[in-house]
Amino acid sequence: MARYARHLALPAVGVEGQRRLKAASVLCIGAGGLGSPIAVYLAAAGVGRIGLVDADTVDLSNLQRQILHGTGDVGRKKLASARDRLREVNPHVQVDLYDTYFRAENAMGIAGSYDVVLDGTDNFPTRYLSSDVCVFLKKPNIYGSILRFEGQCSVFAPHLGGPCYRCMLPEPPPAGSVPACAEGGVLGVLPGMIGTLQAIEAIKLILGIGEPLVGRLVHFDALKFKFREFKLRKDPHCPVCGEHPSITEPVDYDRFCGVPAVGSGADAGEGTLSVAALKSKLDAGERFLLLDVREPFEWDICHIPGAKLVPLGSLPLHMNEWDRAGEIVLLCKSGLRSAKALQLLKAAGFVKLLNVEGGIAAWAREVDPTMARY
Ligand SMILES: [Zn+2]
Repeated sequence: MARYARHLALPAVGVEGQRRLKAASVLCIGAGGLGSPIAVYLAAAGVGRIGLVDADTVDLSNLQRQILHGTGDVGRKKLASARDRLREVNPHVQVDLYDTYFRAENAMGIAGSYDVVLDGTDNFPTRYLSSDVCVFLKKPNIYGSILRFEGQCSVFAPHLGGPCYRCMLPEPPPAGSVPACAEGGVLGVLPGMIGTLQAIEAIKLILGIGEPLVGRLVHFDALKFKFREFKLRKDPHCPVCGEHPSITEPVDYDRFCGVPAVGSGADAGEGTLSVAALKSKLDAGERFLLLDVREPFEWDICHIPGAKLVPLGSLPLHMNEWDRAGEIVLLCKSGLRSAKALQLLKAAGFVKLLNVEGGIAAWAREVDPTMARY
């Protein structure tokens, strides 16, 4: 009673509402930037059972925004530090941990036992997966996304009369066209804002109060300090939630979103080069142009000796300086921008092009562990 006194004082919550919160279960996919405020606030609010899905470990670069984790947690599993933090916030809450990625094979099984699903991930395949799974299971999917100084939030719930994520975005953007926060950057406070909005929607849905963000998308621009609201319509032809659905179970979301399968040799090969193969080429003194298409600030943090820096944006200005028949190896942080650079050069008539898989991040992991990472 003392812990929840401020809730009990709210006529729309009261003892009955607090009991509802205790009886409720929520699944939060991701224990990162969005998952941090979601999990902390929902635990503090007394939501009885909270599931967390995350397979990552805490990295120093996470701490600028992922307030579930502290400096002493660097190198630990995110789930372990999240569990400790949530236990400290509210020991009366049951925390279920799923040390795995949320994938087509396990998604239905994991989400099946929760009332509400909150998507705290920052990639398209998981967004489509979590939205589809929630449509199949008739559970609300609370969506949030962030990049740089902007974020957005909505509740996808066709069973409550609203659209699903596919109604809003039937086709994923081309792979690599939308940077992830790791490449594009994000203001550290922003996920706190958007994740908190998601947590508010979860509590409203559990309590059955107010007007849920169903059929509406709220966009927040921190620099202009502007909230804008867009109407989202349910698409009657949606392949998942439409009148005649053609997708009735989870599909291959990596393929749908054009993401190359991680660590799959089959999809690598043509046009790509592993960091180990790049090392051998350099060691053997082969003649080729190693083009680093990252930004100057990234180059200042770390670079491979012998590489040439030409940021992706200024690539067209420099193309005519290079021999179109010569070999060019392209590098960025993780392999996305360099894949885009490869397409640009290919279209301009260059023929011998290779993209370094995993970028300089993979180089720092596998070839040169002394290299500074970011
Ligand atoms: Zn739909």
